[in-house]
Amino acid sequence: MNHIARRALMALSLLAAGPAAAQQFPSRTITVIVPFAAGGPTDTVARLVAESMGRDLGQTVVVENAGGAGGTIGSQRVAQARPDGHTLLLHHIGMATAPTLYRRLAYDPVGGFEPIGLITEVPMTLVAKKDFPANNLAEAIAVIRREREGLNYANAGIGAASHLCGLLLMKAVDAPMTTVPFRGTGPAMQEILSGRIDLMCDQTTNTTEQINSGALKVFSVTTESRIPALPNVPTSAEAGLPEFQVSVWHGLYAPKGTPAAVVQRLSQSLQVALRDERVVARFAELGTTPVAQDRATPEAHRTFWQADIAKWRPIIQAAGQYAD
Ligand code: ASP
Repeated sequence: MNHIARRALMALSLLAAGPAAAQQFPSRTITVIVPFAAGGPTDTVARLVAESMGRDLGQTVVVENAGGAGGTIGSQRVAQARPDGHTLLLHHIGMATAPTLYRRLAYDPVGGFEPIGLITEVPMTLVAKKDFPANNLAEAIAVIRREREGLNYANAGIGAASHLCGLLLMKAVDAPMTTVPFRGTGPAMQEILSGRIDLMCDQTTNTTEQINSGALKVFSVTTESRIPALPNVPTSAEAGLPEFQVSVWHGLYAPKGTPAAVVQRLSQSLQVALRDERVVARFAELGTTPVAQDRATPEAHRTFWQADIAKWRPIIQAAGQYAD
């Protein structure tokens, strides 16, 4: 039996089980796949949310990292998992860019998933190794224009938020840098801290503590207004590069064919997690906030996701930079 037939059969048997399947849900440990390495920003968000959802669901929710290929390896695992709600994907804006960036995938990057709910929108920061020879964005741009490919820019693969942010930056300053891909920006952070990487653009959920401890230089935050966790960091517009704006939304997904009642139960649990004061407090320390409750729903998630696919498609097509 081929893969599609097997999945169709699994979905049918779950459908036949109907509400009973949902009543018994969850019947075992839930695995949340993060399509990036441990210790990075997507992983951080996933671990906070998983722990809280586990309390609400009365089952352990574990996080497993399946990094590589800009998030598509982990996404494929979930698209091809048994659609019973026990294997989920926590991914970011890459879900909106992969359908255009990757023209050949072994899974359906849109139709392969049931959205469960949005989680958060995280600002990005442009950071540099501690001894990078610039002290503000204008000086950093001058160094990038002078050194060009002599500088190492880290990202988490094509379609990763760090890749998109790097594209915007290099386009805005009109100079390429040497791109060094990692399985996630957790490992990339170690390399920038040790000075082997010059620059990176990454979520505040991975950079706030290093910025505040002085372990990194920071040139701007990619939001319209300054953020409370980094009150001294100028916005890109204040620093002179208004077009350098990007916000990294995260969402939770189940494989296509997961019963609607199970998706609803997971969405309710996600909403509980996003109101959990421990989650809210830690998000705030890391420069972000949970989405409003009505956005942590399958419907709001689907609408936002589709709009974001449509928003990024012409940008990627104009850049002509495909992954394959
Ligand atoms: N922040 C990474 C990115 O560039 C992914 C990660 O490691 O969470 O998309």
